[in-house]
Amino acid sequence: MVQTDQSQPLLAKDDQYIWHSMKPYNPDATLVVTEAKGCWVTDHTGKKYLDAMAGLWCVNVGYGREELAKAAYEQLKKLAYFPLTQSHVPAIQLGEKLNELLGDEYVIFFSNSGSEANETAFKIARQYHQQRGEHNRYKIISRYRSYHGNSMGALAATGQAQRKYKYEPLAPGFIHVAPPDSYRDDDQAENPRDLKSVKAIDDVMTWELSETIAAVIMEPIITGGGVLIPPEGYMKAVKEVCEKHGALLIVDEVICGFGRTGKPFGFMNYSVKPDIVTMAKGITSAYLPLSATAVRKEIYEAFKGTEEYDYFRHVNTFGGNPAACALALKNLEIMEKENLFERSREVGERLLNELKNKLKDHSYVGDVRGKGLLIGIELVADKDTKEPLDVLLVNKVIGICKENGLIIGKNGTTVAGYNNVLTLSPPLNIEEEDLSFLVKTLAEALSQIK
Ligand code: PMP
Repeated sequence: MVQTDQSQPLLAKDDQYIWHSMKPYNPDATLVVTEAKGCWVTDHTGKKYLDAMAGLWCVNVGYGREELAKAAYEQLKKLAYFPLTQSHVPAIQLGEKLNELLGDEYVIFFSNSGSEANETAFKIARQYHQQRGEHNRYKIISRYRSYHGNSMGALAATGQAQRKYKYEPLAPGFIHVAPPDSYRDDDQAENPRDLKSVKAIDDVMTWELSETIAAVIMEPIITGGGVLIPPEGYMKAVKEVCEKHGALLIVDEVICGFGRTGKPFGFMNYSVKPDIVTMAKGITSAYLPLSATAVRKEIYEAFKGTEEYDYFRHVNTFGGNPAACALALKNLEIMEKENLFERSREVGERLLNELKNKLKDHSYVGDVRGKGLLIGIELVADKDTKEPLDVLLVNKVIGICKENGLIIGKNGTTVAGYNNVLTLSPPLNIEEEDLSFLVKTLAEALSQIK
């Protein structure tokens, strides 16, 4: 009781001063988190919750790692800031480390957020073609249901109309095609080049004229649009289509990167070598803002001319700040030392199977899918028609989970406005007993809406 009294002023102040993102006005539903350790967060009343959504903000190594705080503190004492128009040691070391993880030769441009990393990628792709005398190549192709960020270019690339229509006109030159949806579409082919979802990209490039296409951007697995696992061979076939039309492939690893899907990067599940890779969140396990746009060396070389306008006219004041880079290096060291990429794959597979077994007979569970520790549970009103479950019922499941100390998320599906895919993405070092709690709490919540 005393706790509730203490909490009142805080919630009232929150309502007075903070503009929250992405939720309807409902101050009562606000969770004010005061501290966190491992996979558990504590709110201002002292109640604890297992954060099984931490993966969407990508706290991959879990909360409360003192080594990370220390790495940032030590770096802040030594050198707090210097711009990357020049250079500093933590950025150079992180660039080298990222190359090792990417497994090929890339040059890294640092920013602060996933949106900025994608904006940077679009500008690099467009200028790259310009540098080579291909002045008409400006169009960027992305997929419906994708999310690529909140700024005018990244939002234009995003394929969810409900996030966009109130802010238009956005940046021009973005074209959308349907993504593969293995639950709702029968998109199969012996040769992946014949997949409907691959042909959609090939066709749009032909009809828009190959020589106007700069790039394709895609996540290895669309996360915000409902955890869509592509069919076998899809991404590799898309890369071939890009090569055929002279376009670059930009892979958005903002969520899939750094172990979420059981590999250092999501594209590594699909045997492709992207031209540009964007990454953010998990690079520091979300402890400090940092993002990166990794560009294949050959592309970077095209910017090395000596004319005034050959260089990349793009600056980011805080991008790659020394403390964030030092923290990122420590974060990657922890991931490797604790074998978290492999653990994500192994634990994710087990969790997926357990959820499938436990939930498959529930009348609203249409599909359980995932890769590594990124799992989606698609809820439908009718398993035959696959009509998405009413969002009020989806919210009810999430609410019951929260009541019982479990934070899960929801994401979108085929029709703008539906949000019927429950999303699980706990820290990659989630413990066995926490996994049991997660499954039990979720199954109980679902049983209450039968
Ligand atoms: N790309 C993807 C795939 C994302 O999920 C997000 C954020 N959820 C972004 C880009 C944008 O990242 P940020 O919010 O850091 O700008």
